[in-house]
Amino acid sequence: MANTVILGTIGLDNIKTPFGEVKNALGGSATYASVASSFFTKTGIVSIIGEDFPEESILFLKNRGVDIAGVEVRGKTFRWDGLYEYDMNEAKTLKTELNSLLFFNADIPEKFRDAKFVFLANIDPELQAKALKQFSNPEFVMLDTMNFWIGSKRKELLNTMAKADAVIINDGEARMLFDTPNLVKSANSILSLGPKFAIIKKGEHGALMFTKDRHFSAPAYPLEKIVDPTGAGDSFAGTIIGYLSKTNDVSESNVRKAMIYGSAIASINAEGFGLENLTRIKLNDVVRRYRYFKEIRRF
Ligand code: AMP
Repeated sequence: MANTVILGTIGLDNIKTPFGEVKNALGGSATYASVASSFFTKTGIVSIIGEDFPEESILFLKNRGVDIAGVEVRGKTFRWDGLYEYDMNEAKTLKTELNSLLFFNADIPEKFRDAKFVFLANIDPELQAKALKQFSNPEFVMLDTMNFWIGSKRKELLNTMAKADAVIINDGEARMLFDTPNLVKSANSILSLGPKFAIIKKGEHGALMFTKDRHFSAPAYPLEKIVDPTGAGDSFAGTIIGYLSKTNDVSESNVRKAMIYGSAIASINAEGFGLENLTRIKLNDVVRRYRYFKEIRRF
């Protein structure tokens, strides 16, 4: 049984940043999110990989204690080619190959269906909706998305968003989704669909959280060298779902704490390529950065 389940992509990324490049790196929204969540809680993953997917990457997830019972194998693995220029806040998608994602059924294994904490990470919003229907009684459902889906499936995305408790989205994508330059308006548009929390990620400037009557701004760690921001958003969100599940508390004040842990993990992730840093660090390193955040925000 997994109390925390994450639906999303597992893929192979080719990434280029001003500081170097990697090819065929293990990536995908569900990968980053589940690795982050697994610092706090046993996490199940629902995704699809191709027959070409490296065995060692499967072993890597298993060794982290991620339950891969929901991972289908079919065709060719999802691939993403991304480029970051000097403004590291925005990834430019050079190529997206959906491959096996086109056949994905998003079937939730029986043993995952009673999970209380569900993260519908970045993937086709119709698959997010299909997956969500199969959970018996989730307590907290969080949804992420990106420009690729806003551009191609906006209507389906808005329908799925309405069923979530929290929506987490990049600033640029929040503006794009509601066709407004104003993030407060975007957040209020999310809340008016039904979710109780709208969390807007602002890359190296932190993240904002809006509820009907509260507003919180989580700082970003002042990183002098960002090596590769890939997975920052997914590891931030994965941390939030993992922390909320571990503490079993979905109050607004606990969501604030979860966001600070998310900022800690996302910033450590951005200091290395791909998943190299998240593989290396321990929960103690995360807690140290969390304490530093407490210190720098005092006034
Ligand atoms: P982020 O946390 O936003 O940096 O997400 C980076 C990850 O998103 C990469 O590892 C990609 O494999 C994955 N990705 C890129 N495009 C898509 C897409 N259209 N749907 C789902 N995942 C994607």
